[in-house]
Amino acid sequence: MKRKSIHVAFAVLLGFIWSCKAIPSNRIISINNIGTANDKGIWLTHEHILVDFIGADSINPADWDHDTVIEKVRPNLEALKAHNVSYFVDCTPAYLGRDVRLLEKIANEFNLKVVTNTGFYGAGKNKFVPQFAKESSAQQLATIWTNEFKNGIDGTKIRPGFIKIGVDSQNPLDPIDEKLVHAACLTHLSTGLTIASHTGQAKGLWPQILLLKKYGISPSAFIWVHAQFEFDNEEYLKAAEAGCWISLDNLAYETEQHIEKLVFAKTHNILDHILISHDSGWYDPQKEVQQLNPYTNIFEVVIPELLKRGFTEEDINQLLVENPIKAFSVERRTIGTN
Ligand SMILES: [Zn+2]
Repeated sequence: MKRKSIHVAFAVLLGFIWSCKAIPSNRIISINNIGTANDKGIWLTHEHILVDFIGADSINPADWDHDTVIEKVRPNLEALKAHNVSYFVDCTPAYLGRDVRLLEKIANEFNLKVVTNTGFYGAGKNKFVPQFAKESSAQQLATIWTNEFKNGIDGTKIRPGFIKIGVDSQNPLDPIDEKLVHAACLTHLSTGLTIASHTGQAKGLWPQILLLKKYGISPSAFIWVHAQFEFDNEEYLKAAEAGCWISLDNLAYETEQHIEKLVFAKTHNILDHILISHDSGWYDPQKEVQQLNPYTNIFEVVIPELLKRGFTEEDINQLLVENPIKAFSVERRTIGTN
């Protein structure tokens, strides 16, 4: 019995050493580039090229044509050049229209470091979770996602730069959503990919943070997506205290509300936990007429207003350059080490 437990401990140790070697520490993985955390550049941390809400059971890549999509998004992507945007995080998950071949064409044509993701999205009452995933264990899902990290997505060599999941914001979480969080934790431990979870109000955040801690994962590996939907600013202070990233990612709209939240964050010294983006775009294959929102409101409206309200150039640099590179850096983050 004793010998057996020594064997188990040895296997765990070997597994740990192997995975430490397998995870390239402090890397940023985009579609056409593996950079280091020293590669500075301006980020948009939550945007979309294409989203199809038809549902996991009906989605079909034949419903969109790459050239048509590229022509529709072209003006919005060309507009980014004037603002020196380097990194474009495409947050569309699998079964909602993630198309890495399309993203690769866009990355090359518009000279952007496009970051894509692995994971499944449970928000929307699991409409976007495929049937097989509803019946799979967390470990089985983590194996699929880790395999995308190691070998590439959809038969390509393109690797995810983060894990994107989604939950309906409630406490306790829906059981399938909770399983997705378990799978994301297991995938983080085997890959070092940061977990970005569509959450909304904070009530759905806390059960996720609790699960991370059960796995020994630091909340610094977690992005609270759509945090702008929380109305109680105290929750932002608690989230920053816990150590997670707070994503105010709807800055294409309701600009004044977001500016108030950013001023609150600066006043309370938690700007080092904030990510900003537009959650803008996107081509929708189910629509006859495409109305794509631009990705430039932050540069044209939000930043000038923040500067008027006492923000410094360093603050802006922190939001658009320094925080994102830390948040999306691929490294295993365990409690006590990060
Ligand atoms: Zn989004």
